[in-house]
Amino acid sequence: MPLDPKRTVAELRELQALTGDADGAQRVAWTDTWVQAQEWMAAKLDGFELEFDEARNQGWTLPGDSERTLIIGGHLDSVPNGGWLDGALNVVAGSEVLRRIAEQGRPPVTVRLVSWADEEGARFGRSLFGSSAAGGSMDDQDELRERKDAEGTPLPDAIAAHGVDLDRATDARRQLGNAAAYLELHIEQGPVLESMDLPLGVVLGTFGVERHQVTFRGQAAHAGSTPMDQRRDALAAAGLLALEIYDIAEQAGGVCTMGSVVTKPGIVTSVVETAECLLDQRHLDAGKLASMLEAAKNAAARFAEERNVEVEWEHVWNIEPILFDDELIELADETIREVAGTSHRLPSGPLHDAAEVSRAGVPTVMVFVQSLRGLSHTKLEDTTEEHLELAVQALDRLADRTVEWVASR
Ligand SMILES: [Zn+2]
Repeated sequence: MPLDPKRTVAELRELQALTGDADGAQRVAWTDTWVQAQEWMAAKLDGFELEFDEARNQGWTLPGDSERTLIIGGHLDSVPNGGWLDGALNVVAGSEVLRRIAEQGRPPVTVRLVSWADEEGARFGRSLFGSSAAGGSMDDQDELRERKDAEGTPLPDAIAAHGVDLDRATDARRQLGNAAAYLELHIEQGPVLESMDLPLGVVLGTFGVERHQVTFRGQAAHAGSTPMDQRRDALAAAGLLALEIYDIAEQAGGVCTMGSVVTKPGIVTSVVETAECLLDQRHLDAGKLASMLEAAKNAAARFAEERNVEVEWEHVWNIEPILFDDELIELADETIREVAGTSHRLPSGPLHDAAEVSRAGVPTVMVFVQSLRGLSHTKLEDTTEEHLELAVQALDRLADRTVEWVASR
């Protein structure tokens, strides 16, 4: 059977008809519809060795001459009222590639397709469940034990109903035991490729994030009786910072967002005494991320002094950038140029299962395919059939190149 990208598109539509409704995809993890999607996929790959691991990651193995393994991964679960392609594209395209490789006889290295469990975290608010169990970063069992869904069902009960024992979920680590490379195809979920009129791009890694609360403190004073040059206006300093982050982001090549400012007393007849700002800064380069934070701190101190107010920083959350493998990025870039004429290298804003696999030490790369209007996590999510077919071709050729790459190392 030669590769048939049109079949991938037809199968994705079939899956959507089976597990979606008028509001979108309904394959929320740890539900019957999710299991239905898993069974549907298993039927499509009848004849391949199928296994569920301790975290209910679903995997199909094509044994090769070597046990060293190329893993192609994705996720069948969706958010409620989700898009038809997010996650499912990777698994269904991967199944087409697996069939095509199998058709050509025993490969030099083992090839495995993995559908990770609960990437979205839609029901319990914990994303990347299966890949973090396999990748080794799941160390929050006690916290997971306390989680409940909207109906009050505890997470351990819901996953036990699907054969998963929370205390044994991390045994899924053996999943990556022989892993020598990892590939993931995904819709971009953003507007970059569409704005450049390109079908495909290579993902360099996932952004590191620094999230802080910045609080400016001045003095509440009467709006009528306080002259403009005698105010200690916390919002005036916060406003300067809100604009300055555009320059900071541009200079470093990252992104900065002041997503929330809460002012107190918050009435029209008083100068603002406190302005609590939430600042989110992201960059693919750890050094540049640190320099963006430093620049924001310096600017905040300068504006506080200028406006005669105080400023205080509080750490909210951070994560390091996760960089994909240089050699696999080159292979993916070459492949995309071959299939689509032009390639583009871009970072990923959202986290993906690939980030968990990559930080477990497995050489990893992702390919993005254009998302129409940049929309995802909505039934409006879409990609043209032409671009989906190119994406399947690119994954297929990249898989061949990566098999050779693994075999030669
Ligand atoms: Zn996804």
